[in-house]
Amino acid sequence: MGGMSQPSTDRTRVRRIPDRARYDKSDVLAILREGLVAHVALVDPERGPVVLPMVYGVDEVHLYLHGSPASRLVRQLMSGADCCVEVTLLDELVIARSVFHHSMNYRSAMVHGQPENLEDHAAKNAALKVIVEHVVPGQWGLARVPSPAELDQTAVVRLPLTEAVAKVRTGDPVDEPEDTGLPIWAGRLLRETRWSAPIDAEDLGPGLSAPEHLRSYGR
Ligand SMILES: Cc1cc2nc3c(=O)[nH]c(=O)nc-3n(C[C@H](O)[C@H](O)[C@H](O)COP(=O)(O)OP(=O)(O)OC[C@H]3O[C@@H](n4cnc5c(N)ncnc54)[C@H](O)[C@@H]3O)c2cc1C
Repeated sequence: MGGMSQPSTDRTRVRRIPDRARYDKSDVLAILREGLVAHVALVDPERGPVVLPMVYGVDEVHLYLHGSPASRLVRQLMSGADCCVEVTLLDELVIARSVFHHSMNYRSAMVHGQPENLEDHAAKNAALKVIVEHVVPGQWGLARVPSPAELDQTAVVRLPLTEAVAKVRTGDPVDEPEDTGLPIWAGRLLRETRWSAPIDAEDLGPGLSAPEHLRSYGR
């Protein structure tokens, strides 16, 4: 993938409503940068398909995931199992006159591929920084960095952004022409999210207050 308007592989070709496809790397990256939770799909050889919600981070080249090596599915990611990672940004509810044409306006990104396990402590640390800074910009410089023992207890993998695609729906409901005259409201509800002011931990020591990057958190 890279500044292209065609799918990089056959499995990233959007077949259903293809005019909603976005193959440009910049479109995929914009969605991945805005999202916070990824849905990671794997086929567990013993139990069948599984979807794991996971935190992630992204740079220009890779998507990073981490977890406990005690998790069977994380170990599957560490072994390079084929997986699919999806991030959804829900923008609007689309309210139509007919039930059939209700919809959602969204931006979603999908990455397919085989993750690479990071074993080297420096590489793991750099990837964990990407994840932390993705979720809470400014926090890596404040929190205690992982110890070597903590790095050993943390699996970190990265998935190349080479096989990725985005799909985007915008706009009004698309009702049947004969329904537009019905006395039923149609339109959109825009979704807005906000975060609260920081809530102190119960065991917070005296004289400490939340840093500016958390007081002004607007992710
Ligand atoms: C918030 C939300 C709600 C949705 N609700 C529904 C629903 O209720 N019912 C429904 O049928 N569909 C829904 N969709 C759309 C759904 O994600 C699929 O795009 C659609 O079902 C077509 O599936 P398909 O297997 O035929 O796709 P195909 O077009 O055959 O998929 C081919 C390839 O296109 C890419 N692709 C497909 N869908 C997406 C996507 N959403 N984002 C990024 N890449 C994609 C993947 O690489 C996939 O391998 C929703 C999407 C979002 C984001």
